[in-house]
Amino acid sequence: MMKKLKIFLFSDALGYELAQRYRFMQDELPVRLPVRTQLGYSSTAVPTILSGEPPTVHGHFSFFCRTGVTPFRFFKYLHPFLRPRFVFDNHRVRHKLSRLIAKWKKYTGYFNLYRVPYDRLPYFDYCEKKDIYAPGALAPAPNIRDMLGASGVRYHISDWRRGDDENIRKALASIARKEYEFYFIYTGQLDGILHFHVHEPEVVEEAFAALAKQVGKLLETAHQHAEDVAFYLMSDHGMTPRTGVADLRPVLEGAPFRFGRDFLACYDSTMLRLWVLNPEARTPLMERVAGAPGHWLSEDEKKAFNIDFSDNSYGDEIFLLDPGVQLAPSDMGAKAIPGMHGYSPDDPDSTAALLAERPPPFDPVTIADFFRLMRREAEDLRGPGA
Ligand SMILES: [Zn+2]
Repeated sequence: MMKKLKIFLFSDALGYELAQRYRFMQDELPVRLPVRTQLGYSSTAVPTILSGEPPTVHGHFSFFCRTGVTPFRFFKYLHPFLRPRFVFDNHRVRHKLSRLIAKWKKYTGYFNLYRVPYDRLPYFDYCEKKDIYAPGALAPAPNIRDMLGASGVRYHISDWRRGDDENIRKALASIARKEYEFYFIYTGQLDGILHFHVHEPEVVEEAFAALAKQVGKLLETAHQHAEDVAFYLMSDHGMTPRTGVADLRPVLEGAPFRFGRDFLACYDSTMLRLWVLNPEARTPLMERVAGAPGHWLSEDEKKAFNIDFSDNSYGDEIFLLDPGVQLAPSDMGAKAIPGMHGYSPDDPDSTAALLAERPPPFDPVTIADFFRLMRREAEDLRGPGA
């Protein structure tokens, strides 16, 4: 029997609202806390959880950014040859191309070209080139691996590239062998299901039942092999059902202003990010979009959302869509889908969750606090500063 065992199970997109509405594991995990998410996608939220720091410190927000360098220069010469476009814009082709580039450039992080037009790629950099779980990957902030490594606890962090079943299976076998005392287990399947089926109660029920089965097994195995088990199920954000669609590219772009000369723009699923190259274009461009369902973020809002980057690497101006409204087509996808995340953290459907068997040593307010909770539990195994 082990004395103490700490398990953090991360479930992408397990929102507080849905967990409550579907009474997901209400009896087994009676401690249920809403936790404020971080504006952005998993590309923002996960580094925030892994470091406890805001995007302005760990540097990760949306995948495509402006840093003064670009790994996509070659597309300047290559893009005229990528024809016919419908072939090269096919998502499978883009996926394959993304994998080739990642291999060529030796990227270890999650890399995907999504649907950013090939001729626009040379204007941008990509933020997740490195595996964010690797040592020092979120420097200057220490990440979970740095923190656990320094703590001296025996730990296991599952591989985000692997499927949920494999990650759970590996953790179960390892717990049974009493190999480690701290587990961070990554699961991402629920996110994929909710994006496409959040509006279908039977499918959501089924997905929750599958997750509950996995969690149940983890709990059972953990209690079999340890006297004292601290188990936490945590998430990065929720999933907001679609209420509308906005196609902002034709609204923003058009004479007399030209992409690359007067402005640059990135179309995320819930945000339009604008870089102004010609100062005279700023007001007219912003006015063009002003009538869409959403608003340009004020400097105070950017600050409150922790995205007031001093170098404006993620945009000079950001237009955030109202909760439920999706930008489509966007640089992320051709069509709107039933569910999306990346809305204001004030949107209840975006709220993340912490579910547990017993109260945590302190209540996390934002998802950045998950890092502090993990650190506190690691310290409980070794003592602070050990
Ligand atoms: Zn997602």
